[in-house]
Amino acid sequence: MTEHLYYHDSFLYEFDADVVGVSREPNSLVLDRSAFYPTSGGQVFDTGWIVAGDGKLRVTEVVEQDDGTILHLIEGTAVLQPGTRVHGQIDVERRRDHMQQHSGQHVLSAAFVQLFNMPTVSFHMGAESCSIDLDTKNLTAAQVEEVENLANDVVMQDRPVGIRFVTQEEAQGLGLRKTPPVERDKLRLIDIQDFDLTACGGTHVASTGQIGCILLRKTEKVRQGWRVEFVCGKRAVATARHDYATLAESAALSSSHIWDLPQQIRKFQEEARASRKAGEQLQEEVAGLHADQVLSEIPETGGRKVFFRVFPDRDLSYIKLLAQKLTRQNPNVIALLATTCAQPTLVFAQSAGQPFDMGALMKETLAELGGRGGGSKDMAQGGPTKIEAIAGKLAEITAKLRG
Ligand SMILES: [Zn+2]
Repeated sequence: MTEHLYYHDSFLYEFDADVVGVSREPNSLVLDRSAFYPTSGGQVFDTGWIVAGDGKLRVTEVVEQDDGTILHLIEGTAVLQPGTRVHGQIDVERRRDHMQQHSGQHVLSAAFVQLFNMPTVSFHMGAESCSIDLDTKNLTAAQVEEVENLANDVVMQDRPVGIRFVTQEEAQGLGLRKTPPVERDKLRLIDIQDFDLTACGGTHVASTGQIGCILLRKTEKVRQGWRVEFVCGKRAVATARHDYATLAESAALSSSHIWDLPQQIRKFQEEARASRKAGEQLQEEVAGLHADQVLSEIPETGGRKVFFRVFPDRDLSYIKLLAQKLTRQNPNVIALLATTCAQPTLVFAQSAGQPFDMGALMKETLAELGGRGGGSKDMAQGGPTKIEAIAGKLAEITAKLRG
């Protein structure tokens, strides 16, 4: 078992040790002692370097095995021999960030219990934000704000954060927020003075002031309760900076103050709705006039106006509208329309009472032009695949229907 140096001092960033094990798959080292934190209890692993003589090996991941041995996964293929004296260096920025997030989580979880009796059931540390899952049926925005307020008071009070080891028996009467299901005889307790006492193996700040600040963000209902996203310390500053830049860019686009953005967006939505409605009305009118014009150009043969038109620049919704107008404005129309823009589509329509079957005609046509479609006796629609054959085929059907 590796001696876990981080159990006693989270601020130990450099240490000396001996190599006691070497493995190739994956390329990794075991030391007799280590300050590298392995992924555990929601906190992710440290990275850093192991220095041996002139060589510096990059530690890319740290894993704790069931027997307490810590594996240091090494980049590249360099391998050291057992017995080699090495010097370990933790990536300090990354460790500090993890200590801020993890210690912030203790404060936050305790605040949720103290104010609303909502226990934390899990903790996740992501690359950008962290989250806890709470065992509760409901969570309001006002509760979130109250918890954030208490948590930041505890940060500003700069309470000492101590580490102590007790036996399972001694732990019984201490009122721990959480006891892990551990088989070890000794429990490691993290004590935020007069605020929270819980068992945890992670790395923590020395006093709550070092957390910097705690910022709660998105909340969402999950299967077993509510998930609360949060960021602490420098991450909170980076996140606030990112949020501000996004808001400022959006505000500049609408020439408004960032606080007026919701109102601006509502206004834009209303304008877009009104303009869409006006566009639809205009299109109705245009289609009506267009239908009049087409009908005046088509001669009647055998008491009917049978014709086809291919539109390279009108979309499907327009040619459907046109088909409706044509067949309603004249009782003797059979119109075979096609659009070749975007998704090429055929629309066949006849005035109510005409004797043909547009649905059947569409199926016959697509049997030759490829694609799928169908419809009712008076109106049918389909998407052909042989685009270049559309005009020829429609001319052929028109001639046949005219008799
Ligand atoms: Zn912890």
